[in-house]
Formats: sequence, structure tokens, C-alpha cells
Amino acid sequence: LAAPLRMRIRRLPPQLINQIAAGEVIERPASVVKELVENAFDAGARQVEVDVEQGGVRLIRVRDDGCGIDREDLGLALSRHATSKIASLEDLERVASMGFRGEALPSISAVARLTLTSRTADVPCGWQVSADGSESDFDIQPAQHAQGTTVEVRDLFYNTPARRKFLRAEKTEFGHIQTLVQRMALARFDVGFRLRHNQREVLRLQPDAEEGGRPERIGALCGPDFLEQALRVEFEASGLRLHGWVGLPTFSRSQADLQFFYVNHRPIRDKLVGHAIRQAYQDVLYHQRQPVYVLYLEIDPALVDVNAHPAKLEVRFREGRMVHDFLFSALHRAIAGHRPGRTASVVA
Ligand code: ADP
Ligand code: MG
Repeated sequence: LAAPLRMRIRRLPPQLINQIAAGEVIERPASVVKELVENAFDAGARQVEVDVEQGGVRLIRVRDDGCGIDREDLGLALSRHATSKIASLEDLERVASMGFRGEALPSISAVARLTLTSRTADVPCGWQVSADGSESDFDIQPAQHAQGTTVEVRDLFYNTPARRKFLRAEKTEFGHIQTLVQRMALARFDVGFRLRHNQREVLRLQPDAEEGGRPERIGALCGPDFLEQALRVEFEASGLRLHGWVGLPTFSRSQADLQFFYVNHRPIRDKLVGHAIRQAYQDVLYHQRQPVYVLYLEIDPALVDVNAHPAKLEVRFREGRMVHDFLFSALHRAIAGHRPGRTASVVA
């Protein structure tokens, strides 16, 4: 029998701590894109440009025209548990920004070569800092940049071979990035997007000034048939609002690839939500078929806990039963009582 392992307790070095944290949020190149686009949203960007090379393994560059980061804060931006988005538990309990954990940039910099360039509105030039996840004195240099921020991430997982082994083919990884950008673009119609892979433009979406432009983006991302085959929904009850589009039962798919659900503009996948939607379609869809939908739920931020999952994909509703019943009855009524070309709406 081996002797019990008895060793002294020691503190892990910052880079290893960040690599461990990265394991939870940075699963593949698309996770990096997600975190960086979320940061651009939080910075108030109106335009987000994503450049990818070799499926994101060689390069991911996300550029925005948001508020930028002060020179003095560049080092903090790359440090763990440092955030400009919350300051207290009260803030956390009603957080409206996409980020709040202060972990994305240090996590990414621990598993890739990260360069951050940023410029705020009130200064004559931008500043640049590179990081290796060790969080020791950052070297900050002046750099040309318009107002906003560019984060460049090279050689993802170069120093974590176990993770690198799980990367799939370039095409697969880029597919995940494309889906992610699609998901984020449906979250914010007022933000323009450009996506390039290996120097080739894959997607370009203008920002919408008003409601009227929405169908165009929906068509571009969900296919030209979508709007013809979908019902527009608009429901409000008990302080909850649900709006968006649900596909007619005849427009179902064999895969769950056209299912987008947002809680306060945050893309989520949630068991309770999935269950409510499936139930609403239960009588009208064949067993194996998948409904299509792009739905937005607006709810008081104090009634959802977004701090339930490191990648923030899951949420907990304070009154789950109520949310479930609201979704089910809204969608059930829309689907069961639809008239082609009409908005299904009930305001209670
Ligand atoms: P979080 O988003 O949870 O705060 P991050 O590690 O993603 O944590 O970012 C750390 C901080 O760096 C943010 O709180 C923000 O102040 C700043 N930051 C990151 N990306 C951007 C950006 N694109 N524009 C402006 N500020 C940014
Ligand atoms: Mg963030």
C-alpha cells in the first residue's frame, strides 16, 4: 500500500491559477470570441470586427469602437477579478452587463499570446499591453488606435497541450465561431458586425437604426424562408415581456440549429426555457422534429441569477415556475391560434 501523500500546502502561481480558470470558460476558439464580443457590447460598441485565422487557433482579433480603456487601467484589465462592471453584491444581484467576473482577459492571456490595444475618447493616442498570464509588471507602450479597443489573441492553447489536443479541424472550429457570431448578432441589432476568416469576408451586417431593419438581419442569419414561415410574437404579462419569432409547426427542422433564446439580450441555453417551448409545440410537432425560434425575454434583472455558470450560458430564475408558465402559455396561444402574417400578441 502506498504511503498517504503528505505535502505542505502552497499557493499556486498566478499563471497556473489563470490557466485553471481558463479551463472553465475557454473551451475552444469560439469561447474567446464570445468573451471578446461581450466586452465590446459592454463598452457600448456600435461596430464589432472579428478577424480569424486558421479556425481561430492561429489568430483571433476583435476590434470595437466602444469607450476604450484608460492607460492606467490596462494592467488591471488583464488581472484576475478586476472589473469595471460591478463593485458590490448589490450590483451583482442586478447586473445588466454581459461581463462581471473579471476573468476573461486574464484567462485568455494564460492560454494564448494576448495583446490589448485601446484608446479612450479624451486622449491623443492609444496604448498597448501584452500579457502572458503571469500578472507581473505590464509593459505599456503607445500605439496607434482610433477610439475603442482591439484584442489580439494568437496561438491559442500553445502552452496547454492537453486542451490543444481537443481542438477539431479548422473548419469545425470556424463553424463554431460563425454560429457564435450569429448568436451575438441576433442579440444586438443596433451593433454592426464583420467577420473574416483567413482574410475572406464571411459576414457583414449593418447596424439597424430602428425596428424596420430587423427582418433583414433575421433573413441574413436565419435564412430567407424564416420570416415567411415564422410568427411574430409579442407578449407581456406579470412584468415579463416575450418578443421575437417562432416557426410554424410546418417549418420544423431535424436539428436544433435555429433556436435562439435571450434573457435581457444575453444568449442562454436553459432547461426550463427549452422545456416550456417544447411543451408549447408538443401537440403540433412530430416527435423527432425541432422547432425554430428567435425569442427575447425581458425580465427584471433582480429576478434572474446570471452567476450560475462560469461561461454565463445558464441562468437561474428566481420564480422559475412563473417564467415557465408564462413562456408556455404565450407560445401555446401563438402557435395554436395563429393567422398567417399576423403578429400574435396579448398584453395582459
Ligand atoms: P469582465 O468583462 O467580467 O469585467 P474581462 O476580463 O472580460 O472581465 O475584462 C476586464 C475589464 O477590462 C472589463 O471590466 C473592462 O473594464 C475592460 N475591458 C475589456 N474589454 C474591453 C473593451 N473591449 N472595451 C472597453 N473595456 C474593456
Ligand atoms: Mg468580459
